[in-house]
Amino acid sequence: MSGRHDKEKGVNVQVLLRCRPFSDDELRNNAPQVLTCNDLQREVAVSQNIAGKHIDRVFTFDKVFGPSAQQKDLYDQAVVPIVNEVLEGFNCTIFAYGQTGTGKTYTMEGECRRSKGGPSGGLPAEAGVIPRAVKQIFDTLEGQQAEYSVKVTFLELYNEEITDLLAPEDISRVATEDKQKKPLPLMEDGKGGVLVRGLEEEIVTSANEIFTLLERGSSKRRTAETFLNKQSSRSHSLFSITIHIKEATPEGEELIKCGKLNLVDLAGSENISRSGARDGRAREAGEINKSLLTLGRVISALVEHLGHIPYRDSKLTRLLRDSLGGRTKTCIIATVSPAVHCLEETLSTLDYAHRAKHIRNKPEVNQKMMKSTLIKDLYGEIERLKAEVYASREKNGAMAEQIEQMGGQIENYQKQLEEMQDKYTGQVRECSDLTSRLDVTEKNLSQTSKILASTNEELKKSQYAMKEKDFIISEQKKAENVLVQQACILQSSLEKATKDNASLHQKIGREDKLSADNRKVVDNYQVELSEQISNMFSKVASCMSQQNAHLQGVNKLSQSRLEAHNKAILEMKKKVRASRDLYSSHLEAVQNVVRLHKANSNACLEEVSALTTSSASSIDEFLASGDGTTSSLFDELQNALTSHQGEMALFARELRQKFHTTMEKTQEMSEYTSTFFQKLMQESKNAENRAAEANDSQISSIIDFQKTYEAQSKSDSEKLIADLTNLVSSHIRRQHELVDSRLHNFKDAVSSNKSFLDEHVSAVNNLTNDAKRKWETFSMQAENDAREGADFSAAKHCRMELLLQQSVGHAESAFKHCKLTHESLKEMNSKQVADVSSLVNSACDNNEQHDAEVDSARTAAEKDVTKNSDEIIQQIDRMSEDEKASVSQILENVKTHGKTLESFQQDHCCQTRCIEDKAQETFQQRYMEYEPTGTTPSRSEPEVPSKATIESLRAMPMETLLEEFRENNSYDSFASKESKPQQLTRSPLSQVN
Ligand code: ADP
Ligand code: MG
Repeated sequence: MSGRHDKEKGVNVQVLLRCRPFSDDELRNNAPQVLTCNDLQREVAVSQNIAGKHIDRVFTFDKVFGPSAQQKDLYDQAVVPIVNEVLEGFNCTIFAYGQTGTGKTYTMEGECRRSKGGPSGGLPAEAGVIPRAVKQIFDTLEGQQAEYSVKVTFLELYNEEITDLLAPEDISRVATEDKQKKPLPLMEDGKGGVLVRGLEEEIVTSANEIFTLLERGSSKRRTAETFLNKQSSRSHSLFSITIHIKEATPEGEELIKCGKLNLVDLAGSENISRSGARDGRAREAGEINKSLLTLGRVISALVEHLGHIPYRDSKLTRLLRDSLGGRTKTCIIATVSPAVHCLEETLSTLDYAHRAKHIRNKPEVNQKMMKSTLIKDLYGEIERLKAEVYASREKNGAMAEQIEQMGGQIENYQKQLEEMQDKYTGQVRECSDLTSRLDVTEKNLSQTSKILASTNEELKKSQYAMKEKDFIISEQKKAENVLVQQACILQSSLEKATKDNASLHQKIGREDKLSADNRKVVDNYQVELSEQISNMFSKVASCMSQQNAHLQGVNKLSQSRLEAHNKAILEMKKKVRASRDLYSSHLEAVQNVVRLHKANSNACLEEVSALTTSSASSIDEFLASGDGTTSSLFDELQNALTSHQGEMALFARELRQKFHTTMEKTQEMSEYTSTFFQKLMQESKNAENRAAEANDSQISSIIDFQKTYEAQSKSDSEKLIADLTNLVSSHIRRQHELVDSRLHNFKDAVSSNKSFLDEHVSAVNNLTNDAKRKWETFSMQAENDAREGADFSAAKHCRMELLLQQSVGHAESAFKHCKLTHESLKEMNSKQVADVSSLVNSACDNNEQHDAEVDSARTAAEKDVTKNSDEIIQQIDRMSEDEKASVSQILENVKTHGKTLESFQQDHCCQTRCIEDKAQETFQQRYMEYEPTGTTPSRSEPEVPSKATIESLRAMPMETLLEEFRENNSYDSFASKESKPQQLTRSPLSQVN
């Protein structure tokens, strides 16, 4: 099914349509059919005339199952391949989508409970997808004889809360009903998916167990008995089967293949479409079915390829994210009803399902897991569960008591139950009576429903009118609020204005007081002014007399001052002349002193030059005396050195000669000894040779004697054989033996002699060789020593000679240096003498020059002094004249001042009189006082309403008004009034008009 190219492009979501058969009720009511299914063409046609409008639409799906299709047909055709893929390791999801009552639950779960235990232990015909899938899975796995595990979870999602439908029946269930359906949190699993924390995973070991599980789950799904089973229609249920299959690779590794099948029974689709129509309940419905709405939005986003897919907006889409555009294979079974009263929903379901066909998923086989990693994961899981168990155990301790209590309660309940059962049987009987009554009632009902329809219409109208009124009231309320606000603003501004008014009146009072005070001040001031003016008069008169006296004093003072000045000038002139004479006499004395100094310095200089010449001659003498001694000393030194040198050379020569003689003697000695040794060796060799020769001759003579003796004895024996046979032969043998032994002894003695001699010679030889070698080494040593001694003395001699030479050189250079010093000393001496005499000469010249300069300076100074004193006297004369002139000026000024004083006095009189007149005029005639006109308003306090009174003017709140209305007009009395329609329709605004 899944080609390789599918992986890149993706696989469309498979969409099936199932139409349920008419229900018994619908058949009874003869409901018209609007839907026709063509299973083979995979088409569904909808056709209906509504209000003259003909609706005719055809939809095509991946598969279509008409009303006659059985559970088995749907399963075999649509679900078997999906389950096979799950067994291959894919994740697959099957959604059931449709209006409530169209068979979603029937399709997914079936009605197996009722007909439990189908024919031959197989599944009942009514069994839905879930039990069939479980059975197929077990059959396949058992057929493969593989090791496997099957786990299922079953959860319900209602109002965005997840409840575990397989949670064990714990004690908490007894405590409160709410706790039983404790919501479970949805969490990120860290691998990009989500998991439901604390969700029970039930391990299933055989297909039969599935029915108990389904029953357990479904019983927890609270189904209300209202006309549409409320919660089940609004809740989603998710049944998941997870399969782990063990596989062995050819390498012997154990791998775990994993596949998951999600079976989703969605909430009734009518919940979304209806929510658009009714306002009030829409919000509630939206909240409850946020998941369904989000599913629709997710599908739209996927179909329209929008960038953002709002998976995270609801729990359902978070849980099934992978099934929508992810790696899961997805199939949607849309369920519809064929009846006309469901047409609207049917069309919307068909549109929805048709759109969902365009979603593309990219199915991928789950990665096979190593057994070890799986085990590791499981250990982690076990740890987590352990922690949970510990936590719950702690809780359990507390609950044990509760359990006991509850045990008692249970007994009570059981008793009650028995009673109830009795009652129930009674009730059942009543029920049969009631059914007969019900038929009657049903007829009534049809009539009533007609009435109800008309009433509904009226209700709608009145609701509309109510809405209108509500609107108007709210508007008026707003207006009222605005008015009260405005009134409050006005009130506050009025309060402010009264306050302002009061403060203005206060200000006027203050001003009145001020002007009265002012009047008094002015009166006082007038009196004081005239007093002060008369005071001033008298003061001016006294001042005038004082001034005149002062002027006369000035006159006298200037006269006396002039006289004193003249006297002082005469005295000053005298003093100037005397000082000029004193100055010239001082100058003469100075010149005399200078002359005395000059004579003294000249004498000194002459003495200095004499001293220098004498010292120079003494130095010369000293040097001359020193010269002779130094040269003689140096000569002696030189001589001593040369004599040393000669002796040295002589000594060295003698030493060398002595060495030579010893050397020669040693050589002679050694030669002599070596020849001696050679001779000795020669002698020893000769001795050796001679001994060898003697030995050889002796041996040969013995051998000759032996031979001759043997020949003689042979011939003798041959001669005597005849005569002397036996006797003689014995005698001969004896004699023979004797000779032999004798000869033998002799031979031995000779050879021993020889060996002794040989040994002796060789010992002598060794000895001489040793002595010779020793001597040679000794002579060599002696020779070397002698040579070394000669070389050493020669080297020493050379060194001493060199040293002597050096000291001779030193003596010579010292002599030269001495001479040089003498010469430079002489030179310096003569130079110094010359310098001193030139210095003395120049000093004498300077003295002369100074003398002349002092002379000329004296005459110039005398001239300047006479000139200056003349000038001073002239200046004094001029000053006294100026003084006279200024004194006469002062006198004149005093005169004019007296005149101005007189005129000032007259002016002052006029002025004061004038001021007096003016003041009189101002204060008596011009200064005016305020006269009241009577037009200023008198102080008043208007009445300002308080805020509370303004607020009290508001209309009473709606509830109190309503209560008031209800008290005054009872509902019963209203029924009669209702016949006056004008009163009801009157708009609240008409009151204003
Ligand atoms: P929903 O899934 O909307 O809650 P149900 O599965 O509860 O609807 O079905 C409502 C009723 O219709 C049930 O009594 C069920 O037996 C019946 N029904 C639904 N589909 C079929 C069908 N294909 N064949 C027979 N009966 C059906
Ligand atoms: Mg249902």
